[in-house]
Amino acid sequence: MDVGDRLAVGLWTLTPSTQVRILVPQPHRLFKSMAKFNTHLTVATSVSATLAIGLFLSDSASAKAAFLYWLLGTLGGIMPDIDAPQSIPTRLLFTSLGILFASFLVITEFKQLSWLALGCLWIISYLTVRYGLSKLFNKLTVHRGNFHSILAALLFCFLTTATSYHVLEIGELLAWFAGLFVMVGYIVHLLLDELYSVGNAKLSFGSALKIASFRHKISTVLLVLATLGVFLLTPSTEQLVKILSHHHIF
Ligand SMILES: [Zn+2]
Repeated sequence: MDVGDRLAVGLWTLTPSTQVRILVPQPHRLFKSMAKFNTHLTVATSVSATLAIGLFLSDSASAKAAFLYWLLGTLGGIMPDIDAPQSIPTRLLFTSLGILFASFLVITEFKQLSWLALGCLWIISYLTVRYGLSKLFNKLTVHRGNFHSILAALLFCFLTTATSYHVLEIGELLAWFAGLFVMVGYIVHLLLDELYSVGNAKLSFGSALKIASFRHKISTVLLVLATLGVFLLTPSTEQLVKILSHHHIF
C-alpha cells in the first residue's frame, strides 16, 4: 500500500463532515477576522475623511487639524474590538504597549545594568505586557460587553478631549473635535457590528449597539463612574456649541 492509498483509507475512517473539511479547505479564522478588521478600517476611514474634509472646506479646521481628526476617527473605528481576544487591535495595542514599556524600563536602567541584563530586562518586560497583561485584560473584559456600547464611545470621546486639552495643550475647540471624531469612528464600528449580527444567528440583535451592557452590572457601574469622572476633566463646550449651531458650517 503506498502513501496515497494509506491516505485514502485514513480519510475514509473520518466522519463525512471532517472529510468535507479536509477536502475543502476552510478559510482560516484569522482571515475571517482580518476581513472584518478591514471592513471596520475602510468604513471608519471613509466616514472620518468625509467629515474632516467637510470641516476643512468650511474653514472650521486647518489642514493639520483635519488630518488629525481623520486619524482619530479611523482609530475610533477599530478601538471597540480591543475586548476581543487575539483581535488585530488587541495585538497591536499590547505589542506597542509592550515595546514602549520595555524600552522605557531599559532607558531608565541604562546606566545601572550590563548589556546582557538590559537585554533580559527588555525581553521579560515585553513578554509580561504582551502576554501577561493582555491575558489579564481579556479575563476582565467580555467581547461585545461594555466596550461595545454608546457609553464606552462617550468615555473614549471625553478621554481623547481631556488628554488633548491637558496633555497636548491644544485649544478647547480642537480638543472637542478630536474627541468627537473618536466617538464617530467608535459608533460607526458599533453600527457595522450590529449590521453584521443581523445575518448571524449566534450574535443577537442589540449585542453591539447598546447604551451599556446591563448583563455586566459591576463593569457598567465602573464605566458610568469613569465616564462622569473623565467628563469633569474636559474643557468648556461653549465654542463647540457655538460652531455647531452656526448654520454655514455644512
Ligand atoms: Zn466589534
